[in-house]
Amino acid sequence: MAIQRTFSIIKPDATRRNLTGAINARLEAAGLRIVAQKRIFLTGEQAGVFYAVHKDRPFYEELCAFMSSAPIVVQVLEGEDAIAKNREVMGATNPADAAEGTIRKEFALSVGENSVHGSDGPETAAAEIAYFFSGLELVG
Ligand code: GDP
Repeated sequence: MAIQRTFSIIKPDATRRNLTGAINARLEAAGLRIVAQKRIFLTGEQAGVFYAVHKDRPFYEELCAFMSSAPIVVQVLEGEDAIAKNREVMGATNPADAAEGTIRKEFALSVGENSVHGSDGPETAAAEIAYFFSGLELVG
């Protein structure tokens, strides 16, 4: 498997509880390299654009309000098979279903406030990275 890049977010429930370092340690221990990172505060509108794929879901408004309720940390992760590897270390969407040792099992509060986001495929990874980072910010 080739070296890939994926997009990651440390969500408001985690930044509020000062878990950025703890989550980054999990990512790095899994073999993922944080090649770009910044702390930002999304507007509701920006969150809505990012999660537009979910706009018809009943939780969309709640999700956008949550994602714009506190700062988030947006990241680009690099490594062998990085997209799948990150999904594995994140764990299932609902922490009740997440495997032992995953970030969501340990830190997530609920299916909505689940601490991290990770791209689900190469096309979404490329689009999500481009939404938040310029080429100049991807320093490797
Ligand atoms: P992910 O790829 O594991 O993050 O999951 P999805 O793409 O299915 O959902 C995107 C995000 O929407 C999740 O990470 C949650 O923050 C949120 N979400 C998903 N399902 C629900 C739900 O049933 N209720 C609420 N409040 N939020 C949800």
